[in-house]
Amino acid sequence: MTEMMFEQEEKNALKPGTLYLVATPIGNLEDMTFRGVKTLRDADLIAAEDTRRTATLLNHLGIKKPLVSYFQHNEKSKGEFLLEKLKTGTIIALVSDAGTPAISDPGEDLVRLCAQNDIPVVPVPGATAAISALITSALPTGRFSFEGFLSVNKKSRREHLLSIQHQPHTMIFYEAPHKLRRTLKDFYELLGDRKIVLARELTKKYEEIIRTTLSEAVLLYREKEPKGEYVLVLEGAQEAPKTNDDLNNLSILEHINHYMMLGMDQKEAQKAVAADRGVSKRDIYAELLKVKEESK
Ligand code: SAM
Repeated sequence: MTEMMFEQEEKNALKPGTLYLVATPIGNLEDMTFRGVKTLRDADLIAAEDTRRTATLLNHLGIKKPLVSYFQHNEKSKGEFLLEKLKTGTIIALVSDAGTPAISDPGEDLVRLCAQNDIPVVPVPGATAAISALITSALPTGRFSFEGFLSVNKKSRREHLLSIQHQPHTMIFYEAPHKLRRTLKDFYELLGDRKIVLARELTKKYEEIIRTTLSEAVLLYREKEPKGEYVLVLEGAQEAPKTNDDLNNLSILEHINHYMMLGMDQKEAQKAVAADRGVSKRDIYAELLKVKEESK
């Protein structure tokens, strides 16, 4: 064994009382890394989001190991249980349903709990749906943000989208198939038409990369039933935020709409328009009445 290999072996030997975050495949079992397999094989305990799903993976890898469930609804009590185990020197490997733990799954809380208690946390990297989608999107990868799942709550969802309306960089979202149509419509309505890449069933048999625009995607899924798992990669905003001069050249109605698109209610928007134009709120109101009269 060369010195370098020996050093690597040493480095890869698992340390007691450590949490290992082990990435697992997002579809194709061959995406499991050598180090991931070794870590699962050598850990004392595996904490899994879905023990049945992980049991299938372990079976495929020929690994027999005690499994503990750690998922969204038991994360508090199980987190404390796992922390106590780690404190007494147990080596724990954490795996999620698929992909990288702590990315849109409860692993994030366990990592925080370990950090607060000085428990070492070691990444064992591998597949992540977000990055796999980004690198195949053909959209700029130099700067990007991961936006996760949009909230199902209408207000938070709108706030989230308005907060990213002018972001110039590429954005990555996760979405469930039954919510895809709603999400595409919301994107289109609040962010305007722009490029989107729908990365579907990555690394699986029916993998598909659809590079299109939001308006076309809305039309496409009017006909087609969304099926499988999706990552949405969205182009950043193309136009620079509007300057005061740009805004004052808009019609009063467009100017008010601009602020309402940013999340203001009508009253707040009228106040902002009055301030931009250096006139009183009453003047804006009178202008609005005039526009209404003229459109009758
Ligand atoms: N931890 C995972 C990761 O590293 O990507 C993500 C877990 S999150 C609960 C599940 C979401 O990831 C799915 O709803 C989907 O948006 C995305 N996803 C997971 N596997 C995928 C795949 N094979 N193809 C496309 N999207 C996938």
